[in-house]
Amino acid sequence: MREELIRVETLAKHYRVPKMKLFEKRQAVHAVDGISFGITEGEIFGLVGESGCGKSTTGQMIVQLVKESAGSIYYRDRKINDLSGAGMKALRQELQIVFQDPYSSLNPKKTIGWLLEEPLIIHGIGDKAERRKIVTETLEQVGLSSDYLKRYPHELSGGQKQRVGIAAALVLKPKFIVIDEAVSALDVSVQSQILNLLKELRDKLRLTYLFISHDLNVVQYISDRVGVMYLGKLVEIFDAGSTVDGPLHPYTKALFSAIPDVKGEKERILLKGDVPNPIHPPKGCAFHPRCPLATDKCGRERPALRSITPSHAVSCHLYEEGDIFQ
Ligand code: SF4
Repeated sequence: MREELIRVETLAKHYRVPKMKLFEKRQAVHAVDGISFGITEGEIFGLVGESGCGKSTTGQMIVQLVKESAGSIYYRDRKINDLSGAGMKALRQELQIVFQDPYSSLNPKKTIGWLLEEPLIIHGIGDKAERRKIVTETLEQVGLSSDYLKRYPHELSGGQKQRVGIAAALVLKPKFIVIDEAVSALDVSVQSQILNLLKELRDKLRLTYLFISHDLNVVQYISDRVGVMYLGKLVEIFDAGSTVDGPLHPYTKALFSAIPDVKGEKERILLKGDVPNPIHPPKGCAFHPRCPLATDKCGRERPALRSITPSHAVSCHLYEEGDIFQ
């Protein structure tokens, strides 16, 4: 059985909102509100939800680019969110991130060779010749030849820039990569090339990913398991490939219904209203003002994320008793 590589426990990020009036009570945005999950070694764990649900903040906290307000992050059973600067620098080699926007994540004034060599210099890896060898090999791994070493980011297409972004994450030979909306800015045909590249690299280099996207179609294609976030909370975790144990939470079902259906047989579930203000999240189930199946209990009591099979957990009062696959 594979080991858990990453575990987060009751992880939270609260941003204080500036006071608008002198005696106003200080308020906070609960961007991530006490979530717990694990990612097994070699797994692609997809995190999906609407913009502002906390998925990117979660990824940035795991690689410690954003400091959590509460909770714990473990890497190979070692708590990493209270490490010293030196301890975290050593760990940074193993935990990397690929950002959403390949256009702005690469310094336009530097060549691709320089951009990929810089992390090796920072971490004191190899001499000039060894570093050049690592950089050239890494470029080849993402499907680019050594011809690209002397090019600048503006000379590359969107897909080539994202390949360089992936190479920048790979060059330190990490074990775990957060991939944050990395295909959202790309054309559909380029998206599928990058998704297939990420899958190949996972298999070849034995990587583990947290794959973040607002697009459930993309997340389901690449992931082994999917976590669904709504208003800072995880509302469901399920096996992406399971045909018998599909999504149950009304929010996940609504997301699925929005995926285009070639046969045109699927009924679209339209949610009423907008995502509530995260400064004042609704009482009870945070989804209840928009849920087509809400009951009185939903407005009073917050459902816990509860395992209903070894690989499926859901946070909804509908699945607390009785036939869960109704
Ligand atoms: Fe809907 Fe109630 Fe389930 Fe929340 S707990 S998702 S409001 S049915």
